Amino acid sequence: MNNDMQTMVVINPRTGKEDFNLPLFSAQNVVDIAQQLKQQQIQWWALGLSGRIQALENLADAMAEHKPKLVAALVNDTGRASESELEVDVTISGIHRWCKQAPGLLAKSEPWAAEIPFIELQQDYLPYPLVGVISPWNFPLLLSLVDAIPALLAGSAVLIKPSEVTSRFVTPFNELLSNVPALHKVLDIVTGAGATGQGVIENVDSLCFTGSVATGRQVGKACAERFIPAFLELGGKDPALVCHDADPELAAKALCWGSMINAGQSCMSLERAYVHKDIAKVFLTKLVEKVDALAHNYPDIHQGQIGPIISAKQVAIVEAQLQDAKDKGATILCGGEVRNLGGGRYCAPTVLTDVTPDMRIVSDETFAAILPVTVVDSDEQAIALANDSEFGLSAAVFSQNVDYAKQVASQLEAGAVSINDASLTALIHEAEKQSFKYSGLGGSRMGAESIRRFTRKKAYIRNTGVPSPWWF
Ligand code: NAD
Repeated sequence: MNNDMQTMVVINPRTGKEDFNLPLFSAQNVVDIAQQLKQQQIQWWALGLSGRIQALENLADAMAEHKPKLVAALVNDTGRASESELEVDVTISGIHRWCKQAPGLLAKSEPWAAEIPFIELQQDYLPYPLVGVISPWNFPLLLSLVDAIPALLAGSAVLIKPSEVTSRFVTPFNELLSNVPALHKVLDIVTGAGATGQGVIENVDSLCFTGSVATGRQVGKACAERFIPAFLELGGKDPALVCHDADPELAAKALCWGSMINAGQSCMSLERAYVHKDIAKVFLTKLVEKVDALAHNYPDIHQGQIGPIISAKQVAIVEAQLQDAKDKGATILCGGEVRNLGGGRYCAPTVLTDVTPDMRIVSDETFAAILPVTVVDSDEQAIALANDSEFGLSAAVFSQNVDYAKQVASQLEAGAVSINDASLTALIHEAEKQSFKYSGLGGSRMGAESIRRFTRKKAYIRNTGVPSPWWF
């Protein structure tokens, strides 16, 4: 950071105090850094895949060595302890996983004969020179690196712009990155708010954006104007369908976790439940018992399950949605408020019922420890209500009949459906999935396609020595 760089103050979610000065990278800073990265990318590509794997493995080792510093910064970014530790561990294991998979996924194909037998074909994969990554505040480190790692392995340089709400992790990350010089030349981070993000879009050759639908629309338009690919991973309002033949205990346990983990601040949080009337009473009793037993991680950050609301702006959204639901007649079964604890704002673990589709808590993304439950007359009604949404990220289905559960899942307009479990895309990344509707755009972040998103496919088409019959 230059001494003359402008800064912006950032609030600590646990104390409510301004305790961090965020450097604001200007448009010119971004131009200069992007140019350097593009120059360095040529050597990075020339290094070959095995050299790039080695550099990424060195990064994983450096992250493991400096883990306490990374975790400490993430704790200040997010106000949560065990989740921060897990965030670092999951990012490191993601690097190892990609290093193992990349050779198989990026290999140039062997030549093969085309349908016209004297023509030989070969397929190559060439990286976009500079990939931009713009990330949100809910998993600051993980969501800054989740696309950066496969992009780097594919041979691209990467420029990251993390959320202005949670950029404290950048300082220890840059320190440890300087121990991996080959990588440091092709991976850089610029901090700032939307203006810095716009600068990134102006200077990269491909963009991965994770954030809200509202910002995603602007980002998608800006990328379209530059004719660069945009991979948009946006918001969700994931439904869970508890069918007539579901195991109520299992469903209650899974939904308690899937809606409350990370205080509901995950894109694939379960944000609405539809339960068949035949098992609604027993299911709701079990669910409320479990959710009500959860505690805030305050005053001891190592106790409890529910951390603070990370983004100060989100507090107003959550409070407005709760008020709207109460005004329109929802019944609060537990929780139902945002609490002030030691300066931090914590959403009490909440279950609501008697909710209707016109309530914002049912239609809009909430991103908090809140689960509205609708009792339905039939599983068909649950499917219709679940699909009545502008979002289509993921979903969950509970039924003791696996064939039936799969049949219900196939009718849901969502990119991934967990069956008899919740939010499994948080942990299982092998299968490809795309977002439906306004939850996103572009190729899959998961599975084999994820790494190939960063390459342009090139075909070599060789005449093996026969004069082409179509020549003049
Ligand atoms: P946000 O859209 O407010 O901000 C995301 C990023 O975009 C930030 O870094 C921000 O500075 C930047 N930005 C803002 N305006 C910009 C502009 N005009 N041009 C370029 N960049 C700009 O989102 P948020 O509040 O930080 O994150 C929460 C959202 O992220 C939720 O909607 C959540 O569902 C979504 N999310 C989605 C996934 C997924 O994989 N689908 C994962 C995590 C979070």
